[in-house]
Amino acid sequence: MKLRKVTAASATVLALALTATACGGDDSKESSSGSTGGGQIKIGIKYDQPGLGLKEPDGSFSGFDVDVATYVAKELGYKPDQIEFVETKSADRENALARGDVKFIAATYSINDERKKKVDFAGPYLLAHQDLLVKKDSDITKATDLNDKKLCSVTGSTSAQNVKNDFAPKAQLQQYGGYSECIAGLQSGAVDAVTTDDSILAGFAAQEQYKGQFKLAGLKLSNENYGIGVKKGDSATVDKINTALEKMVSDKAWDKAVQDNFGPADYKNEPAPKIGNIVK
Ligand code: GLU
Repeated sequence: MKLRKVTAASATVLALALTATACGGDDSKESSSGSTGGGQIKIGIKYDQPGLGLKEPDGSFSGFDVDVATYVAKELGYKPDQIEFVETKSADRENALARGDVKFIAATYSINDERKKKVDFAGPYLLAHQDLLVKKDSDITKATDLNDKKLCSVTGSTSAQNVKNDFAPKAQLQQYGGYSECIAGLQSGAVDAVTTDDSILAGFAAQEQYKGQFKLAGLKLSNENYGIGVKKGDSATVDKINTALEKMVSDKAWDKAVQDNFGPADYKNEPAPKIGNIVK
């Protein structure tokens, strides 16, 4: 897997250099929320989702969301070393944007009506589907097999919501803070299945330490249209991000990011969505 080498150390050194020389780029451009001034931009990502948003042991970041975020930031006028990635867990995303902790969020963040009451979205930039991950020898193959089974998902995710509202109301749903915790639970036997987007589950299943232990059920239980979240009302940023996403697709950087990040997991992604085209 190709790694983005954006170390915290190099970002800090650059930030100090920029502050010291007061040449932090166009300050007027990003003086609002999510900017620390001095030409830095704060972007929310996941830290524990291999292939999407992962903080590596050396402090660098990798994943499709990281590549999309880095491309978008470049189009907004920020080099990779001007980016500060901030962890935004599923349940924290709306609040992080409302508080102005980050300028935008690229964190497997599905666009839906409930969230649109609190935040605005650019995109979509990827279409994923909810699926189940189980142990290799499990006999769970469909949603109805989950009745009375221990099913893990994450607080504040559409995945957990869909279980309750829709396809497995009789499962014993356990909600953790992040998917890596669910995966640890699956490995230890504390839970029988993990549910979230197939893109995320494929990334975990391909990890060296889990290879050959898990399988995806291959169910398309929902449509998850990944958007880039911005603060409610910041339509100027939405427009700029949409322009950047269109360019990322047309100049094939989107294809490269797919290849780099989903190739190792052998994840069969959907084609690039059209901006504004939400699959219900
Ligand atoms: N895409 C889904 C969501 O936005 C599940 C993945 C996640 O929790 O980030 O809730």
